[in-house]
Amino acid sequence: MSLSNEAQFDFSELDELYREVILDHYRNPRNKTLVDEADIRREGFNPFCGDSVVLQFKLIDGNRIKEIGYQGEGCSISQASASMLTVLAKGKTLDEAYKVLELFRSVMHGTDLTVEALEQLGDLEALQGVRKFPVRIKCALLAWSTLGECIETFSGEIDNS
Ligand code: ZN
Repeated sequence: MSLSNEAQFDFSELDELYREVILDHYRNPRNKTLVDEADIRREGFNPFCGDSVVLQFKLIDGNRIKEIGYQGEGCSISQASASMLTVLAKGKTLDEAYKVLELFRSVMHGTDLTVEALEQLGDLEALQGVRKFPVRIKCALLAWSTLGECIETFSGEIDNS
């Protein structure tokens, strides 16, 4: 955690409810743990802000995320997003998790949200306010891009076997 990173982001620009959801995930991260004998592990880094995220997960039936954990450090946006990711991805198949990633990515790049989409995004809704700050979009997407790489790598391994 770096105070200078926080100082670059003016939380007062965000809706208060959104701000509270983000800070709650940042201060009380969900699933910030190591996963024993993980099937997939990948590290993501955002050089623009110095954020890092390591995702680990264990699968059941070859494609459903049974256990997921993250570790990392960086700004509140990047770490809150990783915490939210673990909550949303747990229990989902890799395909389902990838669909949430695509939805979230399109929202961060300006797509308007439908009620249906909001249901799928859960607490991620709070991060949509960040899209007004282009530099912060990378922070919000770091964990998700890392998840995408995990899934693409793993799917590739299945296809090749
Ligand atoms: Zn950041």
